[in-house]
Amino acid sequence: MKALVQYALQKNAVEIREVARPEAGPGEVLLRVKAVGVCGSDLHQRANRQSWTVNAPVILGHEFSGVVEELGPSGCEGFHPGDRVTCETSAVICGRCLYCRTGQYQLCAGRKGFGYGVDGAMAEWVRVPVRILHSLPAAVSFEAAAMTEPACVAYHSVVLRGSPTVGDVAVVIGPGTIGLLCLKMAALAGATTCVLAGTERDAGRLEIGKRMGATHTVTTENPDWTALIQDLSEGVGADLVVDAAGVSDTFPPAMKMVRPGGTIVKVGWGREPLNATLDPIVLKTVKVQGSFSHNYPMWERVIRLMAHGALDVRPMYKTYPLSHWQEAFDAMESGENVKSVLLP
Ligand SMILES: [Zn+2]
Ligand SMILES: [Zn+2]
Repeated sequence: MKALVQYALQKNAVEIREVARPEAGPGEVLLRVKAVGVCGSDLHQRANRQSWTVNAPVILGHEFSGVVEELGPSGCEGFHPGDRVTCETSAVICGRCLYCRTGQYQLCAGRKGFGYGVDGAMAEWVRVPVRILHSLPAAVSFEAAAMTEPACVAYHSVVLRGSPTVGDVAVVIGPGTIGLLCLKMAALAGATTCVLAGTERDAGRLEIGKRMGATHTVTTENPDWTALIQDLSEGVGADLVVDAAGVSDTFPPAMKMVRPGGTIVKVGWGREPLNATLDPIVLKTVKVQGSFSHNYPMWERVIRLMAHGALDVRPMYKTYPLSHWQEAFDAMESGENVKSVLLP
């Protein structure tokens, strides 16, 4: 079968290769991949600038949907050939640690994900454990289903960790895939004022943000951008600030904008050290909350939001055949696309 393989730990060591079609083992099914999203992490791996361990050669891709083609020899009860499904990312977990035993397997130290730890879905077929499969309602397209993964990151960080409530002022910094979906989740959770912040280069993404629920957008080059949040909250500050920017520099303005007693959720990574005092956290009695990945109940909720039309991700993605993967990757790297989705 054709697959997009990272074959070495070097820059641009990614190409379409002819590889053996995988076989489903016990508790696994073979999936015919219908749609697979390109993630920022795939771009990092193409550039070999990732901070995680890549088990090369490995097939890229961890945001996907497809049709069950073959069941493994055992342990596949409840699934049938022809089923439309989407799949979580925790391909391997230990199954024995505290986190695995309490349903928080995304925190398992032995966790390995598709696309770096085990072969992913930028291929015609992928083998997946039934443990992390979810059935897709007819109303959810394969393309939209490929966005379930980032939507679950947003659901987890905003709805479960940030917990905005009706009437809140929420600010999301960073209008990438995660940021746009965080904004939508804040709106769905009841925040009345939803502000999306990005750079001037993000103009197109801020525009998409308006279609995803932003009541206001602001560029961080504007020296008064944090003052705008004060204006929008009658001088009190934001109830919730979601830092989805992927750089450390956005944390000081987050501390400035949050209201006393408010919450900052940090979902964007940032490798650089934070060259700032954390005193505002103390003075304002702010809750700072990290959020990573997702687990089973979050996926079921997000699929329901999509099936009921509450979460429409169509403004966010553009599709490409797998053979045009380079174009798809480049359009995301340049910022032209929020999300590219490959159709193998
Ligand atoms: Zn991803
Ligand atoms: Zn574990």
